[in-house]
Amino acid sequence: MSLDTAATPIDEPAIWQALETPVPPDSVQVRDLLAQARELHGLSPSALATLMAVEDPDLLEEIFATAREAKETIYGRRLVLFAPLYVSNMCANECLYCAFRASNKAVKRRALTQEEIAREVRILVEQGHKRILVVAGESYPREGFQYVLDSIETVYSVHSGPGEIRRVNVNIAPLTAEEFALLKGAKIGTYQLFQETYHRETYAKVHVRGKKTDYGWRITAPDRAMEAGISDIGIGVLFGLADWRFEILALLQHIAHLEDRYGVGPHTISVPRLEPAVGSDLASHPPHPVSDLEFRKIVALLRLAVPYTGIIMSTRETPKMRAETFALGVSQISAGSRTNPGGYAEGDVDPDGEQFSLGDHRPLDEVIRDVAEMGYIPSFCTACYRLGRVGQDFMDLAKPGEIKHHCDPNGLSTFQEYLLDYASAETRSVGERLIVSTLERMDAGARQTAEKLLVQVRAGKRDVFC
Ligand code: SAM
Ligand code: SF4
Repeated sequence: MSLDTAATPIDEPAIWQALETPVPPDSVQVRDLLAQARELHGLSPSALATLMAVEDPDLLEEIFATAREAKETIYGRRLVLFAPLYVSNMCANECLYCAFRASNKAVKRRALTQEEIAREVRILVEQGHKRILVVAGESYPREGFQYVLDSIETVYSVHSGPGEIRRVNVNIAPLTAEEFALLKGAKIGTYQLFQETYHRETYAKVHVRGKKTDYGWRITAPDRAMEAGISDIGIGVLFGLADWRFEILALLQHIAHLEDRYGVGPHTISVPRLEPAVGSDLASHPPHPVSDLEFRKIVALLRLAVPYTGIIMSTRETPKMRAETFALGVSQISAGSRTNPGGYAEGDVDPDGEQFSLGDHRPLDEVIRDVAEMGYIPSFCTACYRLGRVGQDFMDLAKPGEIKHHCDPNGLSTFQEYLLDYASAETRSVGERLIVSTLERMDAGARQTAEKLLVQVRAGKRDVFC
């Protein structure tokens, strides 16, 4: 039975109570909690509230170091890459922070045709992308929700040279149970939906018209998706709307609710910060701005609180912030993104059609080279989804011992594909060196598996995984 939309898994009084923790905690308390966090079983809300109150630079550095350790143990040095595909910026809602809101006359409205979608996808495939996140406003062209299903089919249908998109994730408005079942049938990977803010009063202030005014309909969407059999769910908060400490504890309550009810929490958490958006005063003046230091704290604490849940960082952030947070816990990043429908085919960013300003404008090849120079393996792996290792099965695999034998070899083989098929000469030489040094560091079993896959890719086979 679906959660009643009038019910909510968020207990606001309990959150405010937890935030009343005496501040700041002393070093003994902090080290005690960090020792617990190192066991990689997560953190309780009260432990998290205590760590959120840490301001002493040395203790903060200890938190960051523990997060780096957890990230390295669970995810190794892989970073999964994807590109968003904005298919439509038509929207009936009035979210005061978003350029796509219905009354904003400054944005040129457009829903791509299936031919235009195919053209965008071809460009992304030819850059080397294997994962796409389909994004749309909440108002579809004449075909209604079928437009989304058709768009997904179009994305999967495009093949160019040795490439194709192997996993389509979607970020679209909440659906009914029947629509979620159709979405599952369209073979999506992750259904992604951000609550934006868990704080009801703020939610009501910033969502002033349209279906999205209904907090309950939105917060229960992951329940409906899970019940329709979509087991990889992405959740998130739009930071800047309400107190970030409140949002983190609420996010944890949401996760606990999903775990209790479905035996598995979200597959990913996204951490967008409000960025300037054309025609939005609110976006340029966030009511609760999150500083760079607080943002790093958010990523590090999430890494420790839910060690096995992926954290996604988009191109909203600058290359510098992205680099700092990779080490602290981020496991997936977008690259070479455009947030205006048609933006890949039309080249330059069109500020009249985009959703918000990007902090990282670099093309995929440059991002990959940079990431590889930092010692991270850019991964295009989609093996788990292809092999049905989703939901609980994925979480079991995510345990440190297991991951070494699948994710690391698959990450390397998909990176090798990229280097052979799409990379510039400069990126290829950085990448080939990274593959050699990574193999040297792997344990014997994992190295053997990786080498087998690499031999196949070098011999011309594609899409090999274990
Ligand atoms: N329309 C659907 C919805 O609202 O759920 C999905 C697509 S919407 C374009 C995707 C996400 O963009 C929103 O959930 C919101 O968090 C984010 N977003 C909107 N305006 C933003 C801004 N000014 N800065 C950063 N992210 C923003
Ligand atoms: Fe529409 Fe989504 Fe933007 Fe709100 S955030 S205006 S629902 S596209």
